Amino acid sequence: DILVNQIAAGEVVERPASVVKELVENAIDAGARRVDIDLEEGGARLIRIRDDGGGIPADELALAVSRHATSKIASLDDLEGVATLGFRGEALPSIASVSRFTLVSRPGDAQHAMALEVDGGRVAEPAPRPHPPGTTVEVRDLFFNVPARRKFLKAERTELGHIEEWLRQLALARPDIELRVSHNGKPSRRWKGEVDILEQSGLFDARLQETLGEGFASQALRVEHEAAGLRLHGWIAKPNYSRASADQQYLYVNGRAVRDRSVAHAVKQAYADVLFHGRQPAYVLFLSVDPRRVDVNVHPAKHEVRFRDGRLIHDFVYRTLHQALAETRA
Ligand code: ADP
Ligand code: MG
Repeated sequence: DILVNQIAAGEVVERPASVVKELVENAIDAGARRVDIDLEEGGARLIRIRDDGGGIPADELALAVSRHATSKIASLDDLEGVATLGFRGEALPSIASVSRFTLVSRPGDAQHAMALEVDGGRVAEPAPRPHPPGTTVEVRDLFFNVPARRKFLKAERTELGHIEEWLRQLALARPDIELRVSHNGKPSRRWKGEVDILEQSGLFDARLQETLGEGFASQALRVEHEAAGLRLHGWIAKPNYSRASADQQYLYVNGRAVRDRSVAHAVKQAYADVLFHGRQPAYVLFLSVDPRRVDVNVHPAKHEVRFRDGRLIHDFVYRTLHQALAETRA
């Protein structure tokens, strides 16, 4: 059902950045410590994601590119407390239906890798191929067979900008993972990874600097508060760093980067009420909520969440930040 996959692709695959997101999240779900991202022409010509994760057994390769064959969810109950980033099992089939797609994978204990090619949704026979343990997914000529979509891809720099913005979001949330990016054959970004979880907070500081720059890192106020089953931690910039635009506002709910108007409002309001009226606060905030109190399944691209008790969460964020900011004035 190539057509069904192409229709699903309409939801999952907005642009090259959505492909990068789905593939990198798969790499992370597979336990990767390092992910290499090679791009050409803003991703429109090539997106190649290579990881050192657990790989896919040869006899599951074909399953991985067929609809709803996810290995990550065994029952409907799982949907509630889902811990992995992907769980719908439709990203690979969707992407493969609108590109020239190759999946090469080798589990750690396999003698060699197997490669599976899918051309605009048509799946070929898997064949052996040399590859280190882990997985490489290659997506060429995105939307080559959907001219109406291809036409709407923006300039190379715009598409690259969307990819880099998403990678920044990820890099902030996952300082333990090394990310290397190249564009048109040249290395363009690198985030060094660290594995020492004990150093987690030092790591976050380093990555904050790597990602948002010295200015933010040196002006950031550390926030850490837990109450009523909610936890908020991260950084909010002190007033001398406040910005005119909203380009440094990162919110994560249970590790996923999301946009949420209510939480964004709570932050802005706390900022404004303490003293810095009208200006945009810069922040990187991680909110942890019991997964049963939040629905991440609102949109397949998962930029949005729905809280069961949104008011309570708004007030928790507001009060936490209000207090932290007020202390800096004292
Ligand atoms: P989902 O992530 O929602 O399960 P996807 O279509 O993104 O669905 O991926 C399908 C399946 O392919 C995954 O459930 C996983 O078993 C396998 N898979 C995809 N990418 C990788 C990867 N990089 N490493 C290991 N397994 C992968
Ligand atoms: Mg996935």
